This record gives sequence, C-alpha cells and structure tokens, in this order.
Amino acid sequence: MTDSTCDCGAPAGELGTCEDYYHGILAEEQSDPEMYRWHAVVVTAYLLQHPARGHGKYLDGQFRLLQFYVDQGLDALTRLTARRVARNNHRARQAFEPDPLTAYAPLPQDGPPARFAASFSTLPVRDGSFVFDGPLPYGDRIKAIAEATIAGWRAV
Ligand SMILES: [Zn+2]
Repeated sequence: MTDSTCDCGAPAGELGTCEDYYHGILAEEQSDPEMYRWHAVVVTAYLLQHPARGHGKYLDGQFRLLQFYVDQGLDALTRLTARRVARNNHRARQAFEPDPLTAYAPLPQDGPPARFAASFSTLPVRDGSFVFDGPLPYGDRIKAIAEATIAGWRAV
C-alpha cells in the first residue's frame, strides 16, 4: 500500500479514489434535479482529469465545453447542450448555427497534466451526500474542479 494516488495525481479521500467519488456523484444526482444541473460539467471535468477513461477524440470538444462553462456559466451551458441536441435532430439547420465552441482553445497536445489544483477525491462528503450544504455550494466546488482542470491542461 505505497501508492493510493489516482492517475490524476490526487490522493485518495475517505470514499476512495476519484472513480469512487465520480460514481457516488452520478448515483446521487439521479434523484436530485438541482444537483443534476452540473452533470455535464462533472462528466467533462472527470474525463479531462482522467483521459485514459474516456475517448481521445472527444477530449478536445470536452476541453472547449469546459472553457465555455467557466466563461459563460451554467445556464449558458445548459442552453448550449439543449441546442446541440435539437440541432442533431434537425440537421438541415446546422449550417446556419455557428458552433460557439470553436472560439475556445483546443486541447494542448502535451498532456495529460501530472496533477490538478482541485480533484474529485478531495470533495467533501457529509452523511453520504455531496450536496449536504445545498446545491449552490456544491456547484461552486464543481466549478473549482472545472477551473483547475482547465488550468492544469493549460500548464502542460
Ligand atoms: Zn483522479
């Protein structure tokens, strides 16, 4: 037991590694619509901090999506993802809607970073809940992970 460090560089927390925290969040948000609002941010940040778990070809779009969220906020992200779903259902309109994600920086080629300033395994949990102090403080902690994810990749 010399190495309980996750591949993102974070130490294990009381629930285990980041993967345990990630699955805990995914389970809890299923029954909490307020918490679920950060779902896309959670998934995107987790995959960017643990790129071996995801699909390499999507990481660039996920990196841009996370920048869009930090730049424009959760409501804008929710509208964007809803528009993208609608657009996929109406392909004819695609040419008339520029993709706002092209304005953001591509994923740096030299990653992944060795560590991030904020990690899933350091999220506080009380009585088995991630939203023990309400959805907004939880959202602030998720945003801090999102910001640390972007900063970590920019620093490679
Ligand atoms: Zn990790």
